[in-house]
Formats: sequence, C-alpha cells, structure tokens
Amino acid sequence: MSRTAHAAQFAPPPDAVDGRRNLVGLSREGLAAEIAALGEPAFRARQLWSWIYHRGATDFAQMTSLAKTLRAKLAESHEIRRPEIARTQASTDGTRKWLLRFPDGQEVESVFIPEEDRGTLCVSSQVGCTLTCRFCHTGTQRLVRNLSAAEILGQLMLARDALGEWPSSSRGRLITNLVMMGMGEPLYNYENVAQALKILMDGEGIGISKRRITLSTAGVVPAMRRCGEELGVNLAVSLHAVTDELRDQLVPLNRKYPLAELLAVCRGYPGTHNARRITFEYVMLRDVNDSPADARALARLLRDIPAKINLIPFNPWPGAPYECSTKAAIARFADILHDAGLTAPVRTPRGQDIMAACGQLKSASERLRKTERDTRAAEA
Ligand code: SAH
Repeated sequence: MSRTAHAAQFAPPPDAVDGRRNLVGLSREGLAAEIAALGEPAFRARQLWSWIYHRGATDFAQMTSLAKTLRAKLAESHEIRRPEIARTQASTDGTRKWLLRFPDGQEVESVFIPEEDRGTLCVSSQVGCTLTCRFCHTGTQRLVRNLSAAEILGQLMLARDALGEWPSSSRGRLITNLVMMGMGEPLYNYENVAQALKILMDGEGIGISKRRITLSTAGVVPAMRRCGEELGVNLAVSLHAVTDELRDQLVPLNRKYPLAELLAVCRGYPGTHNARRITFEYVMLRDVNDSPADARALARLLRDIPAKINLIPFNPWPGAPYECSTKAAIARFADILHDAGLTAPVRTPRGQDIMAACGQLKSASERLRKTERDTRAAEA
C-alpha cells in the first residue's frame, strides 16, 4: 500500500466531541482561521496559542487576558482536550507509563523515563502498528488507526500536567527530551507527526528544540528524506541486522526498502555530521544477530555514516519467539564496535516491571481482551 493510501485508510476520526472542536493540534494558521471564523482579530489567536502551549491552560475560564464574552463563546463551540488517562503505572526505577484513551475508545501508551541529566518522554504515533517486526510486542497488535496531531501532542501535554511542568518557560523541568519511539511507525503517519512536532518546537509555546527530539523509524525511506528536510529532528533507525536476508525476517519492511537504500538515505540525511549523528538501534537477540562476525559487519556497514549505535537488550514479552543475548555476547559485540571506533552504548532497560521498555508497549485493553478470550477458550 502506498503511504498516501495508508494515511487515508487509517485516518483518525474528526476531532470534535459533542460538536465542540478541539483547539489542540491546529497549526498557527489553523488556529488563526478558527478564531477569524468567530469574528475575532488575529492577535486573539496568538494569545490563545500562548495560553494553550505556554501556560498549559485547559479551561477557557483561566484565560484572563481574553474578554469574558469571548471566553464564553469559545467554551460553547471549542475545547482544549487532553486524552483521558485510563491507567497510570510507576516502575520501581522511576519510569512512569500512561495508558491513554481517546474519545473513540482507542488507546495508546506513553512512557516517561527519568535519567540523571535529563528526562525523556516516549510518545506513540499509532494505535498498534502494521510493521509486524518479529521481536516487537506492539507488532502483534493489529493496527487500528493513526493518531491525530492533537493526540500525539496530547501525550506530552498530559505528561506535563501530571508532572506540574507548566508554564513552558519554567526552569528545571523533568521532561527535557522527546522520542517518537512508542507504539507505531511515525513515518507511516507523517502528516500528523510533522504537524505535532512543529507545534512542539514552536518557540512561543512548548518550545522543545529539534536537537532534543528523536524520531525512530524502521526505515520508511522516502519519508526519512522529508523528515530531515522539513523537521530536522534527530533520526534513529531500527537496523537490527546486517544482511537483507536476516533483516527481511526481523523487520519485514526491509523487503520494500532494503539495506542499501536505507543506508543511502542515511548518508544524505540533512545536518548529519559528527556532532549530530544518526542513531542505529540494534536489538540483541540471542544466537540470531549477536555474533562477533555480525559486529564486524555492522562496523563495516556504518563506516561512512556519522553513526552512534544503541545496543538494546531484547525485552521479553509473553509468547515472544526470541531470547535476549547473554551479557557476555553483548559485551563482546560492544567491544568490537568500540575497537572499530564506533560509539555503542548498551541501553539499560527501563520500566520492565510495568512492561514499559522498548518493544513492550501494547494497549492494556488489547491484553485484557486477549486474556478474556484465553479464559473463555479455557472454559469452553
Ligand atoms: N516503528 C519505529 C518506532 C518504534 S521504536 C521503529 O521501528 O523504529 C521502538 C524501538 O524498540 C525500535 O528500535 C524497535 O525495533 C525496538 N524494539 C521493539 N521490540 C523490542 C523488544 N522486544 N526489545 C527491545 N527492543 C525492541
């Protein structure tokens, strides 16, 4: 399926509940048009932008710089919506996971990962995923639909609410970085992801710098080019294998965009130089892709790309067909890469006890339905 057909087939529902239109997720121009339609001057749109994205207001009544009559008018026809929180979980290591529910009942997860020198919010782009990577739990969930720009943005706005991180200019915030690494393939939902990221990066609002945003893709080659040119965020590529033969199995998207094409587009990714490298994610699967020969081939493959490799110990999930590589195999693999002059940190799994680690996300409702199914099957 083409990316355009995919976007049309999996489009999010219209963003109005009880006839009230959500203002979150509109571009600056979109917001200006909305306000102009109410017969208001353009500077009101700028004020609203600041209330929504700088102050984090969720209620028009808070917007004291707007006339009372306008506040009342807006409250009748519009809203500033957050996703509903279906469940919050906290790991013993400080990681937090939110299961969010949208008005049509669909759900996704987002994860906050605190570290010593920064805090990262991991955001989802789709309900489920069509890529069916064999080692990924989300891939076992049927793709239900793309998220709208509002639903993508809503994940960060809600995390900021929960952590008390408004206004945007406040210092010492916990969420400093954002990664599009949750459920879904962000580049199969490019338009909505791009709109959300542009709003997030707007300096008069949330104002997260593109240097602190990383988009992870399994390798949707044509959209990678666009992402670099239009958004300029950091890129992470889920590589996981050094031959087409193996990558075809692990990441079926490789059959459409094989390694040579993928690496060619990485070489041309705008802004890539030594200070701004592309991250290559490599999940460590025992006896599958973790041999010293694999490590040497990986170093050769990336030798002419400013690259950083993230070695991700495989995070298990119920019924997964793989095991994590041994500690010794991971250490040996990393040593070979270091000797070849590559940066290759091993990613510490975070939030494993609450199924919040890489590749473990999947909506709880899906799990529940499956558990119910299993229980019923066992009873029958
Ligand atoms: N679709 C995008 C975004 C998902 S990011 C992508 O493929 O990049 C999530 C990262 O976790 C990807 O690198 C993915 O390959 C990796 N991953 C998936 N399942 C995993 C698992 N069980 N253990 C460790 N990493 C996993």
